[in-house]
Amino acid sequence: MAISADRLILIHYHEVGLKGKNRGRFENKLMGNIARSLRGIDHGPVRRIYGRLLLELKPTTPIGVIRERLSQVFGIANFSEAVVVSANIEVIRDTAWAVVQKSSFNSFKVAARRADKTFPLNSGEINIDVGAHLQALSKAQVRMDNPDLTCHIEVSHQGVFVYTEKIPGPGGLPVGANEKAVSLLSSGIDSPVASYKIMKRGVQLSYIHFHSQPYTDKNSQRNTEELVRLLTRHQYKSTLYLVPFVEIQKQIMTLAPTGYRVILYRRYMFRIAEYLARAEGALAMVTGENVGQVASQTLSNMRAIEEVTTLPILRPLAGDNKEEIVNDARNIGTYETSIEPYEDCCTVFVPKHPETRADLEKVHEIEGSLKIDDLVERTLAQTEVKTFEF
Ligand code: ATP
Ligand code: MG
Repeated sequence: MAISADRLILIHYHEVGLKGKNRGRFENKLMGNIARSLRGIDHGPVRRIYGRLLLELKPTTPIGVIRERLSQVFGIANFSEAVVVSANIEVIRDTAWAVVQKSSFNSFKVAARRADKTFPLNSGEINIDVGAHLQALSKAQVRMDNPDLTCHIEVSHQGVFVYTEKIPGPGGLPVGANEKAVSLLSSGIDSPVASYKIMKRGVQLSYIHFHSQPYTDKNSQRNTEELVRLLTRHQYKSTLYLVPFVEIQKQIMTLAPTGYRVILYRRYMFRIAEYLARAEGALAMVTGENVGQVASQTLSNMRAIEEVTTLPILRPLAGDNKEEIVNDARNIGTYETSIEPYEDCCTVFVPKHPETRADLEKVHEIEGSLKIDDLVERTLAQTEVKTFEF
């Protein structure tokens, strides 16, 4: 099928191509996600050629918005805006000159790739031919290592694509290519970053937030909703469960020794999250926990908390330094929302000196006096569900 556009976006992906027999499925997901991310923008068709995707542009397509949207689509390694011309070496020379003139450069190289073997020149010959032409006109130096500019020429069966700039995408795998998980989302810095990392591996997330209204102000919930909205840019549709936590906290405060409260809160969180995960068909839970970051995140406590669930807990930030997490949050765009003032459900009810080495027998003994199932059931019945669409 011939290409009618004279400009298009050439989209490269790495990992997707490595997935053997799953490749077709991954490519279809990526194509679908690209189309979904461009909803509302006037553009031509998305199609697949030899290990690349093509997005045809219309004269009216706003290129700035296209760049912004594609740079958020997981699975894209990089993309380029290319000019499409016919397979004729004179036309290719002139086009290459027109394209490189948009940048200033002192050194350059030509990198040709010939997928259409019926084209009379091979890639080395194209490099030499076009390189000599560009050098004569620009007087710039040809340099193989680290040139200021690379002029890419791809000779395909669908036309010849000429471009210079490679715009980085986020990499990873297309969302929806892997199974589902639920993410425990506070309005802090860590859990949005953890969510992003797992989504980037192709996992579709639903979010769960525990709040202590009316004891906390509405900010924590508003911030959480804003975070879900930001994260939904990458997966296009999200569900957020808002779980009221006050009754559980009151029960624990009256019946449990102060040092164990955080562990007991978290065990309730995981029980409720597991229930919601199963209802969603999700196979794992994601948290922003980080080994040793706060007293409740010691290995003994993680073990004591996760004992209540059989689902795997993904902790993508387990080994990161705080500054790495903060950096990631800035890059993802969630940092500003995460540092807005809020009262976390747990900071309101948290003791000054939490237990750092939870003893499981003690945990079981305390929980023996709690009516856990009833409380979990009542809490689930009061859980509110919101959906977000990009
Ligand atoms: P964050 O920056 O994500 O709030 P944190 O460093 O403050 O993390 P904790 O408050 O101990 O650490 O929480 C550890 C993890 O437990 C969070 O990353 C999140 O996954 C989950 N979590 C904590 N509070 C809540 C909440 N109110 N609702 C949902 N999940 C929560
Ligand atoms: Mg927190």
